Amino acid sequence: MSAKAATTGGKADVLNPRTTTYEFLGPLGTFVISLSSSAVVYALYFGCNSNSGGCPPSLVGIIGRVVSSILDSTWWKGLWDSEAALYYLGWYAFCVLAWLLLPGDEIEGTVLRTGGRKTYRMNGFYTFGLALSIACARIWICGPESFTFIYDKWVGFVTAALLSAILLATYCYLSSHRSGALLALKGNTGNIMYDWFIGRELNPSIGSLDLKWFNEVRPGLNLWAMINISMLCKQAVLRGGFQNVTNSMWLVVAFQVWYVADCMLFEPAVLTTMDITTDGFGFMLSLGDLVWVPFTYSIQARYLVFRPIELQTPAAVAIFILNAAAYWIFRDSNNEKNDFRNGKNPKNLKYLPTKRGTKLLISGWWGLSQHPNYLGDWLMSLTWCLPTGFGTPITYFYPIFFAILLLHRQTRDDEACHEKYGDDWIEYKKRVPYRIIPYIY
Ligand code: NDP
Repeated sequence: MSAKAATTGGKADVLNPRTTTYEFLGPLGTFVISLSSSAVVYALYFGCNSNSGGCPPSLVGIIGRVVSSILDSTWWKGLWDSEAALYYLGWYAFCVLAWLLLPGDEIEGTVLRTGGRKTYRMNGFYTFGLALSIACARIWICGPESFTFIYDKWVGFVTAALLSAILLATYCYLSSHRSGALLALKGNTGNIMYDWFIGRELNPSIGSLDLKWFNEVRPGLNLWAMINISMLCKQAVLRGGFQNVTNSMWLVVAFQVWYVADCMLFEPAVLTTMDITTDGFGFMLSLGDLVWVPFTYSIQARYLVFRPIELQTPAAVAIFILNAAAYWIFRDSNNEKNDFRNGKNPKNLKYLPTKRGTKLLISGWWGLSQHPNYLGDWLMSLTWCLPTGFGTPITYFYPIFFAILLLHRQTRDDEACHEKYGDDWIEYKKRVPYRIIPYIY
């Protein structure tokens, strides 16, 4: 889809050329996605909670609730909770302070179009460790009931996170108009709605804090782990102690907290992802980072609070083994690429030299498919749902959404790599024809 407005502009800036094509069906598409993806987060709660009368409730139940909400002009007040907003603000401030004060290696990002590089302080694992220690200490001293507030104030937390995402995207959009800002190649169409959503500036910052990178790895991801712990505490309170927490809850929480710990431990790897190297920071990413990751990815643990499931031991072991295998594919493939992009090749993998200078791996995991890491990541997401059984499709929301996201992301990356590598990318695809699943897709 072409961005007509862009072609009518003046002389294109050499460093910040006008974007001439739209993704996501253009401004209207991004408007619809912004509204609908915000609404989905609430719908997942109202359509699946301890009082919803089914997960999801019957069509009659849904219509009844919508009608009564329309008739009750004060329904929206239930979305706001000042205490939850303060907690959320405190949490965000904690993440910023931890970034500022905790020690960490200063690592350079990829080369920018200006020729320079940005520096990032990698202390995410310490931030995670500190947050986890504070949470565990509180639970140890005050009991599990002291950490159920995230479950109890769920909607208020969602609203606070959503408002933060809107404010951040708006701030970044407005500040991108100052002179000297380096814009994202895909976010400079001139259409306000579209650029606000996609992200106009590549690396909006406040001082040395890179907002895109920080929000991608800190407040949302770590909150996801805290939310899981809160769900576990809630189940412990409802069932009379941690000794009665179900094995399904322990599995889900262990898998997801491990995933977050892994992201923090391998934090530098995020610097070579498409989000950081290519996309701007707009509502698409701020919503994903602050709202979707913590509040939709944690749906399994929230469900298990009010629908506790005790798995048979063989089923629990099988799910555990599948998760471990998926994690291995995910971690090992990401490490291969990350090492390679950092000038190391410990496995002596084969590669294709390119005219652009950067080489492309064509053996190891990256010889099996163009995105082996997507396969591992998706399989892991499936193992997070299996402990919830098959009583509802809602807990499977994440792998379904994630499959769509990864399929779409693959095509976006394919286009971006085609632009970056030209004929070399065509040659690469001849050598590595499968997109995600070796020998299948
Ligand atoms: P990739 O890790 O596949 O990175 C794509 C980039 O890697 C390309 O643009 C290219 O950039 C480089 N590349 C591609 N092929 C090769 C090759 N053969 N050899 C060396 N470099 C290559 O994709 P993403 O950044 O999308 O994903 C990173 C991780 O994040 C994945 O594990 C994914 O599953 C996860 N993820 C998770 C999400 C979630 O919501 N849970 C959302 C999105 C991603 P260049 O050549 O310029 O270096």
